[in-house]
Amino acid sequence: MVLLLFGPPGCGKGTQSPLLRDKLGIPAISTGDLLRRESEKQSDTGRLIDSLLAEGRLVPDEMVNGLLEARLAEADCSKGFLIDGYPRTVQQASHLNQMLEGLNFPAPVLIHMDVPDLVLIGRLSARWGCPKCGAIYNILSKPPAESGLCDLDGSMLTQRKDDTVHTAHRRLEAYKQITDPVLSFYTFPGVGQVIHVNAQQQPDGVFEEIKLAIEAELLAPVRLRLSS
Ligand code: ADP
Repeated sequence: MVLLLFGPPGCGKGTQSPLLRDKLGIPAISTGDLLRRESEKQSDTGRLIDSLLAEGRLVPDEMVNGLLEARLAEADCSKGFLIDGYPRTVQQASHLNQMLEGLNFPAPVLIHMDVPDLVLIGRLSARWGCPKCGAIYNILSKPPAESGLCDLDGSMLTQRKDDTVHTAHRRLEAYKQITDPVLSFYTFPGVGQVIHVNAQQQPDGVFEEIKLAIEAELLAPVRLRLSS
């Protein structure tokens, strides 16, 4: 089975990915991790990737496709795998399906973790820190004893620039712009299966929902149909 884990920033993908890996006994591959590893190499490609990552820009399709192709050729991927962070463009999606056909896999199953924007913005902007001692708080899951003040030294808590409501809005917009065309690509018959799960609930509930969806997919895998 080939699973593609999709979801906006703050949806809890990072929690579900290792749970699914362990439950299904397949590797969880993150293209972000593959790229970060490559960027540490002292090669021309490594240096280019390093500078793109530092600017928060997408790495060119051919580079990501090549790295992923090499990873999928490793023995632990023979029974299937889960990918997080890929595909991010329609070109990558189409390339992935060609690779899957070559490896005799069925159409990929795309799990989209749905969370309403307002909830995500709440989650993404819930982090506050103490400018004096560096202690980190989360207004939703680990609030300070006294609102707005550090438990350790009583300083007024502050937010990092990338944890504010404004930045959260921008990150969600960027996510939609990138993901919408990819999701549309997978709605064509024989290209993939898109499953939406409710990721607004506790992690256990999300995991149960994904498990049920996967079990149904395993019973009826969809054959890949390539357009070219
Ligand atoms: P994030 O969820 O914060 O984007 P990732 O670890 O998934 O974190 O990715 C880190 C960076 O790696 C991205 O911002 C992007 O620059 C690059 N990247 C990851 N996956 C891809 C991809 N499929 N195509 C192009 N660039 C990618």
